[in-house]
Amino acid sequence: SRPGSTYLPPVKLEDHTRSARQSMVGLPTPQIPEGIEGIIGNTPIFRIKSLSEATGCEILAKAEFLNGAGGSPKDRVALNMIAMAEEEGLLTPGQGDTIYEGTVGSTGISLATLARAKGYKAYICMPNDQSTEKSDLLHHLGATVERVTPAPITSTEHFVNLARTRAKEHTASSEDESKGFFADQFESPANYKAHFQTTGPEIWQQTGGQLDVFVAGAGTGGTISGIALYLKHEMGMRGDLKVVLADPEGSGLYNKVKHGVMFSSTEREGTRRRQQVDTIVEGIGINRLTENFEAGRELIDDAVKVTDLQAMQMARWLVERDGIFVGSSSAVNCVAAVVAAMKMERGSRVVTVLCDSGTRHLSKFWKSVGDMGLEEEHEKPNLLSRLGIK
Ligand code: PMP
Repeated sequence: SRPGSTYLPPVKLEDHTRSARQSMVGLPTPQIPEGIEGIIGNTPIFRIKSLSEATGCEILAKAEFLNGAGGSPKDRVALNMIAMAEEEGLLTPGQGDTIYEGTVGSTGISLATLARAKGYKAYICMPNDQSTEKSDLLHHLGATVERVTPAPITSTEHFVNLARTRAKEHTASSEDESKGFFADQFESPANYKAHFQTTGPEIWQQTGGQLDVFVAGAGTGGTISGIALYLKHEMGMRGDLKVVLADPEGSGLYNKVKHGVMFSSTEREGTRRRQQVDTIVEGIGINRLTENFEAGRELIDDAVKVTDLQAMQMARWLVERDGIFVGSSSAVNCVAAVVAAMKMERGSRVVTVLCDSGTRHLSKFWKSVGDMGLEEEHEKPNLLSRLGIK
């Protein structure tokens, strides 16, 4: 026998399953989720210990990277966009219909996963400056990926416009009557409604309605609008809750919230050929007003601008102190949560979102963290000084 095997108790599988079954007698029959779509939502909330200690407030994180299909809050959105399209007859399973989307990654991954589970094809247009992990993953999920050179939103070559065109071309040229459906996460109300109907109520239930601040970044704006609308309108929190936008460098939304004017970066986009904003952060920050952001904009009370360096410092800190390994947008959210907490009374409760895992950002964001030499920052043991916050 192999070394080491002697100290393992000899358990026969049949005995084990029988005793497990017996122990269930008298308990309610557990609900087993049906398919991968059954493990979307109901993500846990937990306290980030080091951030709570450093701020004297409670910093809670909704672990959206635990959504079971594509590993981000976009699972909720993709599920709802497909459901609404099916209801409207824009998609029919098993007919060769294709879902088209323009995405920096997460929404594409969720759509490609659910397309497989529900009998559709997926066609994803994505800028070519996003991390390769995301496009590789899309390939393995069997999606067609069109990686495009970053272009301003006014250009027909912008990834969102291209996806819309491809969907139209599909339907127009389809010989087998199959349909092309443009999911349109930036403008579709199915996006913020997914958060209004699921993420918002979950936060309310998990905190017992006890929260003072909600912090999130905006890519499409679906998350912040849907949750703000639920907590402030539906649950009547209004003045009791501060909603704070976390915005990365180069994004125009911060100025819109703080000063009511959108910082125009068209020139900058044009000259630098950036698809979105000039930052290392992926998934949040934008230079136009989308329907999903507009849906909840009036309910956003404040905004925090977060630098790339702060996001990298935070990402490193969360690994060092808490064993939490996240992507760039989650790190931005956490920096803004700390800044927002420092403006509150001690003991206030701040809720934010961890959007996706760091494993999706190894080649870009985390490589930069390594290149900056941020692995060993023990000489700055204080979080606030590390972030440059007083
Ligand atoms: N984090 C990541 C990693 C994302 O991809 C996105 C969406 N693009 C967001 C956060 C922002 O979410 P929303 O689109 O709801 O504003």
